[in-house]
Amino acid sequence: MTSPGKPLTVKCPTCGRSLPWTAEQPYKPFCCERCKLIDLGEWAMEEKRIAGEPLPQDTDNDSDTYLH
Ligand SMILES: [Zn+2]
Repeated sequence: MTSPGKPLTVKCPTCGRSLPWTAEQPYKPFCCERCKLIDLGEWAMEEKRIAGEPLPQDTDNDSDTYLH
């Protein structure tokens, strides 16, 4: 069964927090400016990593530290 009155929510790509998809969210789909900047930073790091030195570490662990 569905709840028609329930607002549409999205998950912040950075921290995974659910947030309402409304005009009051200037940083959507991120929950806040910080998460947006973090995500953009990860993008830049990703490009650098591909073009530059390969990291021997599992980078999935790195992204976990951004979850907080
Ligand atoms: Zn977030």
